[in-house]
Amino acid sequence: MTRHIVFIAASFVTVLFAPHAGAWGGPHGPITRAALDALPAWQQEVLGAERQPLASLYCALPDLVYSRADLAPYAMMDSRPGVKYLVGLHLPASPADNYALLTYFLGRAVDALRTNNVAGAARYAGTLVHMLEDWSCPAHVVPDDNMFTLFKQFLPPPEKYAHVPLHSLVESGTFTVAIDGYRPSLAGTSVPEAAFILLRRSQEGTRFARGQVVPILNALYAGDTNAWNAAQQTAACFGARLAADALYTLICLARDRFGPDEAGALQRIDLTYYAPLEAPDLYLPQAAFFSRPYWGYATVGASLRDGKTAVPLALRVSEAGRETIRVFEHGVGVGTRSVLTYLIPKDVYARFQVSAGLHAELGGSGHVRFEILGNGKRLADLSPVQGTMPAHTLDLPLAGITNLQLIATSAGGDGSGNHAVWGAPRLLKEER
Ligand SMILES: [Zn+2]
Repeated sequence: MTRHIVFIAASFVTVLFAPHAGAWGGPHGPITRAALDALPAWQQEVLGAERQPLASLYCALPDLVYSRADLAPYAMMDSRPGVKYLVGLHLPASPADNYALLTYFLGRAVDALRTNNVAGAARYAGTLVHMLEDWSCPAHVVPDDNMFTLFKQFLPPPEKYAHVPLHSLVESGTFTVAIDGYRPSLAGTSVPEAAFILLRRSQEGTRFARGQVVPILNALYAGDTNAWNAAQQTAACFGARLAADALYTLICLARDRFGPDEAGALQRIDLTYYAPLEAPDLYLPQAAFFSRPYWGYATVGASLRDGKTAVPLALRVSEAGRETIRVFEHGVGVGTRSVLTYLIPKDVYARFQVSAGLHAELGGSGHVRFEILGNGKRLADLSPVQGTMPAHTLDLPLAGITNLQLIATSAGGDGSGNHAVWGAPRLLKEER
């Protein structure tokens, strides 16, 4: 069975999810079942009879903490004693908070499965997939606007919905969840690494779900049931793939069973696509803008001519004694003063590599100082790069570091050429 239909029967939702409903309501079941069906046979065997309650009950566990005292401990954290309802399990919070939640519940599930406590592992796994499914659910991803009261100001509803809280309407369609043929992907060979990779995938899920919010509301307002369901379905399928990756990784970790290709693919990680801590809700607030060479924000994968036209990232680099221009597919284009702070999983990666300099085409009149800090301590402080000077390529040790900052500041001049580039920022597991 690979297609799972979401039936929103009011009585069912009321019984199972009240009074703390929401979070996909009924769809947690079909999303989780689709994720479980995507697991390889050996993993289905590991879960055995626990697959059924995982898909029908445990995946809703964080919504049941007040009605099921027996299950509540599986949605609680040692670091928050007595706190029964963890908001972070339902709404994406800051990267650091989300990372802590992922680490804890993945870790608990892995520990339980390692001691063959399959029932305990399935309960913690239910909490784990619930949070990932909620973080990629359109109803949960508009920061601080769970009922869409602010959103209604941007997208005024017809009279019919003027006073109706929109949360459940944004997530309660009737649609199938099918990810046939999806092969779950390994997120890490240790819990901290897997939590870090799942964090990035969950951020993609949050952004993707945000992209469905306006289509869902427009369809709802227009009474277009097909479009309303379709936009929810596409987000639910994203959530199912995310949940499949989490479950797959959990069982691989507990059984120490990794394909060599899968583990090899995790040796180097591109930092470009992680949201910096300056963007706790995955967008850069005005407080994080820089002022030169234009008033704006860090741009992934491009530098901006005049602050609006994307130009590929390019740096002058010295290679074998010869200066050439290297184009970077991955990296971040910034101005001055810019600070980008990244959460780093402790002792997972041995080194950080990056090329830092002025954009080869746009930076001719620039003067920029580049600094890199690890846990607040200076790891690199480059002599200011000016005009057509070549970029620096750095390779820095990361032992013990959990917080990495990339800082670009003006080093004189009028700043009109301060198109700074962090090219190919990467975390590497292997020692030099
Ligand atoms: Zn929830």
